[in-house]
This record gives sequence, structure tokens and C-alpha cells, in this order.
Amino acid sequence: MKKHEGHNPKLHLNPNVQGLKPSATVAINDLSNDLKRKGRDIFKFGLGQSPFPVPEPVAEALRQNAFQKDYLPVKGLRELQEAVAEHHRRDFGIPAHPDDVLIGPGSKELMFILQLAYFGDLIIPAPSWVSYAPQARIIGRDILFLSTEFENDWHLTPEKLEELCYMDKNRARLLILNYPLNPTGTSMTEDRLKELAEVIERNRIILLSDEIYGKIHHDGAHKSILPFYPEGTIFSGGLSKWCGAGGWRLGLFVFPPSLRWLQDAMAAVGTETFTSTSAPIQYAAVRAFQEGPEIEEYLKKSRRLLKALGSHIAGKLNKCGIKVRAPHGGFYLFPDFSPFRENLSSKGVSSSTEMCHKLLEDTGVAILPGSNFGRGEEELLARLAYVDFDGRAVLEAVGNLPENSSLDENFLTKYCGRVIEGIDRICSWVTD
Ligand code: PMP
Repeated sequence: MKKHEGHNPKLHLNPNVQGLKPSATVAINDLSNDLKRKGRDIFKFGLGQSPFPVPEPVAEALRQNAFQKDYLPVKGLRELQEAVAEHHRRDFGIPAHPDDVLIGPGSKELMFILQLAYFGDLIIPAPSWVSYAPQARIIGRDILFLSTEFENDWHLTPEKLEELCYMDKNRARLLILNYPLNPTGTSMTEDRLKELAEVIERNRIILLSDEIYGKIHHDGAHKSILPFYPEGTIFSGGLSKWCGAGGWRLGLFVFPPSLRWLQDAMAAVGTETFTSTSAPIQYAAVRAFQEGPEIEEYLKKSRRLLKALGSHIAGKLNKCGIKVRAPHGGFYLFPDFSPFRENLSSKGVSSSTEMCHKLLEDTGVAILPGSNFGRGEEELLARLAYVDFDGRAVLEAVGNLPENSSLDENFLTKYCGRVIEGIDRICSWVTD
């Protein structure tokens, strides 16, 4: 017998990554691009990418710093740590120190390293963002899903969390809360945050507060849980959403001093993996976190458009019988198609994945199944990212309007016509 006969190298794949598929959002984007190449008109509501350009002062800072070529400290460029700490004080009144800041190549990467460094179970509400659970699976952590409801704007209730903690008090746990929430666009009131913080603190859970959409709360009224549980909360943010710079790959965590041991452990892993975050991007990010009138203006226009468009299309969906919450921030909706279960079943659709595939085939509208966000296949939920428009042109048009004029249907149809048409196609498809 030859030496390697009968030997299957795939047997050596780590069991934690066996069967792991590419992230759902990336997969639907690839499929949409494929269909597009074949000449189909695709409404790209799958990938959650900001439609807006990077604000000009930040883009200019990047151009000016293209020559920066040296490795930087693993925890981040000192000027950027300072700008983030200062920003933290301004936004949340938390006296953060530059040493509390950890910069990484995207908050997704930092979340992975956090789960690796912290030896505890992961608690996440369902629905929640697509990557938290796969990261835990890759690392080999146990995951506890806490199901949420439409009636509570899809957010965790203190009672539900209390119930879980009561069952097994002594386990080490990491809870991730995200608000405004991807996939639903909904956020939490200050009272709700306070109630949750009380339960989290009492049960000595470490909290990762994923506030990556905070700056694009539609009313500019984002509230953080940080002031209610400062000693056990790690703040997570970055440039990807509010600064239109997902591809720049810059994320950040801010730790309380009491969790310095965890930050240091993560940084040590960082030295053996990503080494340091891209130098030109970090220099440009300093400008982003310094903010100022131009950036405030950019944010105001982004929020104004996202609010008007989000509530307009949520209204349209509700009117045709699809249940959906109007968003408070970000650029997502989480429609519930279950009122059309019978109609969909006559199209051969009985799961959220089948629904999204059939919708894409029949109408060219790409959305993601709720099952990718931790919900049951049979629930007929889906996430819709309303970002298929030219963000640069829209921001310019919003800037030419008087401050308090409303962005009416004519405006939205002119500048975000594809989003409106995609929604109309969904409505005719389910009712057909
Ligand atoms: N958290 C949430 C809720 C997100 O939607 C995303 C990006 N889709 C991330 C974290 C990761 O963002 P990044 O790695 O670009 O910082």
C-alpha cells in the first residue's frame, strides 16, 4: 500500500470550522453580483454597507498620511487613543484615559479576539448580528441565545436575562448588546438600558456594548448603557458605519480600568496576529474622532435621509400587511412575512431561506433570511438593508434643502428610487 493511500487530509480540519460557510452577508452579495453579471437587475438590500462617502476632511487626512509606513503600537496610535478617549468624554461623560483604548483592524476582529481571550459563555439576544455566534463556535465557546420579540422592539428584557442568570449563577459570561440593532434598526430607551444594566451588574456579567450604529441614531439621540455599568462594560465602535468607511477596517474598544487585564491579554494576542492596524488609516481616524462642524453637518444629513427613507419604506411595508418596526437608527428593517404564510406556501416557500432565494429569483430583490440572525427558519423573518442608492448624490441634495423641510415622497423617489421600487416589488410579490 502506498504511503498516503486512503488518507483524507480534510480529516485534519479543525472540527470547530468544519461546515463553516462564508458569512451570510458576504454570500448574498456574491450571489447578487453573479446574477448582475448575467444581466439581471438586482436590488442590493443584502450587505449592510454604508451608502455614504467618507467625510471629506477624513478622506483628506488619509491622503496627507499616505506616507505613514511604520508599524504602530499594537494598542493603537497614541494620538488616536487620545482622540477616542476625548470623544468618549464628550459623548458619554465617561472619563476615559487613552490607555483604555484598543484599536484594531475592524471591531469584528476585536470581537473575535475578545471571545478568544475571555473564557466564558456567550449570551446574545436573537435576533442579533450575524458574526457573534459563528465566532464563538470557531473558538469553541457555548452560546446562549435569548429570544426577543417584535413587541419589545426586538430587544432583550431584564426579566429574560434574569431568568437565564437564575438557572446557573456561577458561570463566567460575556453578553453582547447592540443598539441601534443590526438587523432591526431599533434602539433602547434610557430606562430600559438602566434596568438591563442593573441585572447585568448584579450577575457580574461582562458586557460588550456594540454601539457601532450609535452615531447614526436617526434623531442624533443615541444613549449608551456605559454610564449605568461603567466598571463592567466594554464599548465597541469604529469608522465603518457612521463614517462610511467599512473597507478601511478600523474598529475600537474602550475598556474600564478594572478590565485592563482583559485588554492586555487581547493586545498580547494582537501582537501575534494582526501586529498593528494600518498606519495611514489610524492617522485619518484621528481627524474623524476630532469631529467638528463639517463632520457634524455630514452626520446630520445622513441621519435626516436615513430617518425619512426608513420610516417611508416601513410605512409602505406595513400598509401592504408585512409587519415591521420603523427604525430608530442605522439602515436596516426586519420585516416579518408570516401574515403571508399561506400565500408563500403556495409559492413553495416555508422557510426564511427559501423565501429570500425565491424573492431574489422572482424579483431581483436581495435580502437576508432571519435564520442568519439566530431566528427559526419557520418564522419568515428577513433583514433588509435600505442602502441601494447613491449616497454622495443624496447628501448633496439634502444639503441643498432648507433645514426643516421634509424629505417627501418626491424627493425619496428621485434620489432613492431603487429602494422604493424594491419595496414595491416585495409588496406585489407577497400579495400576488
Ligand atoms: N457590529 C455590528 C452590529 C455590525 O453590523 C458590524 C458590521 N456589519 C460590525 C459589528 C463589524 O464592523 P467592523 O468590523 O467593520 O468594525
